[in-house]
Amino acid sequence: MISEEVRSKYQLVVGLEVHAQLQTKSKIFCGDSNSFGDPPNTNISAISLGHPGAMPKLNKKAVEYAIKMGLACQSKISEFQFFDRKNYFYPDLPKGYQVTQDKTPICVGGTVPVKFGEEQVSEVILNRIHLEEDAGKSIHTEDHSDTFIDLNRAGTPLIEIVTEPVIHSAEEAGTFLTEVRKMVRFLEICDGNMEEGSLRCDANVSVMLHGAKEFGKKVEVKNMNSIKNVVKAILHERDRQIGLIEAGGEVISETRTYDPDTGDSFGMRTKEELNDYRYFPEPDLSPLRITNEWLQEIKDNMPMLSSEYIRKFKDTYGLKESDAQVLADQRDMAHFFDELCKITKNYKAAANWIMGPFKSYLNEKGLSVVESEISANQIAQIIELVDEGKLSFSTASQQLFPYLINHPLETAQEAAQHLNLFQDSNVDSIQTIINEVLINQPDKVKAYKKGKKGLLGMFMGEVMKKSKGKADPKVANKLLRDSLETVN
Ligand code: ADP
Ligand code: MG
Repeated sequence: MISEEVRSKYQLVVGLEVHAQLQTKSKIFCGDSNSFGDPPNTNISAISLGHPGAMPKLNKKAVEYAIKMGLACQSKISEFQFFDRKNYFYPDLPKGYQVTQDKTPICVGGTVPVKFGEEQVSEVILNRIHLEEDAGKSIHTEDHSDTFIDLNRAGTPLIEIVTEPVIHSAEEAGTFLTEVRKMVRFLEICDGNMEEGSLRCDANVSVMLHGAKEFGKKVEVKNMNSIKNVVKAILHERDRQIGLIEAGGEVISETRTYDPDTGDSFGMRTKEELNDYRYFPEPDLSPLRITNEWLQEIKDNMPMLSSEYIRKFKDTYGLKESDAQVLADQRDMAHFFDELCKITKNYKAAANWIMGPFKSYLNEKGLSVVESEISANQIAQIIELVDEGKLSFSTASQQLFPYLINHPLETAQEAAQHLNLFQDSNVDSIQTIINEVLINQPDKVKAYKKGKKGLLGMFMGEVMKKSKGKADPKVANKLLRDSLETVN
């Protein structure tokens, strides 16, 4: 165990490499299906397998998706690019090389703003985002006696997002990843599912004494399938390196694997054993030029990001930061709320309905927003009925809302009529009830008149109960006060 005192002598330095699988219909260089979970080795044409003479062709959608991510990160989009072959042998890489962008990444620089801890804000600077193809997958049997190879993933389009070594805590790294996952999901370019491997992260970790001029040697930690594990792996690696240095040893540049079950890591290969990839330009693909017209078209069709929804919810709808964050956390939810606010003008009520009854309903039934059986229109109608004083919030949420879920074709007005929920604001009928209540409790009336004004609530409760919750509370309250003044 490293003590906090020793730990505080060191500055942690982290740079992340994030791979995101692009959710295009077909692969990056051929028409093979890019769907996840198909039977092994079914989406593998001669091009995916890299048979001699097979000619790859670039998927335009994959390029568009990479550009979208670059625009979202304020990167510079490169006008001219080409692809490179990165040569290495691996059983699940049938071609013997991976096609990537080494010299001319599609997006250069950029930043991702992250907020973490108590109001800490930082801008994680990106080095680049480049396009490349994924390799196949090796599946090892539990007893390590066999390895199976599934090449469906070979040729899946990836973007690799590379940060500068500017991250200084595990928490900042975790928040950056959460933000990146949100971005790819709002852009609809990747499902962001780390468990299934569609979003993967390698963490480069080093430590140095505060004020040191040079970075320490970095270790690359691979294979983490959740943000939580990335955070844990960084903390573990930090302490491992500090422990080594404090004991008079030295950190060696190497690649390590973190095992979340044991909380330990082990070395895979050191820098000396690292491959020389012998990059060279891919001769079968023509260089890529991104025209201004195309770039403009992509810019014009950029979906809104979570951060933009948050700003809109605050500035246009007057919500507070924390509510805006909750509502803009998921794309479909943000979109649904935004649509609702185009119909109703009571934004505060809209926010409360979405964060309250609507969310609980989705959670209870295990539905996603798009599977909702109640429409934004219907919710807007409910809000209007409550605002008009025709029914109370509790009647609306406990009776009308559940009814509408099962009657998607009815308007809230029709449904409330059906259920006979409308509040009674008829003065005569409410007065009749009040008279009955007061006659039944002469002692309490006397007490009230002698100054026990707190009894008003009790009387109101009785009136509401007798009206089966339908008396308009505002009207009832006024009539009740008046009656108590005049009654003897
Ligand atoms: P390599 O040539 O070893 O691949 P790069 O310079 O391409 O190294 O950087 C790869 C990743 O490692 C980047 O995300 C970068 O920010 C990060 N990185 C580089 N040096 C360090 C360091 N000393 N400590 C932590 N991360 C680092
Ligand atoms: Mg690298």
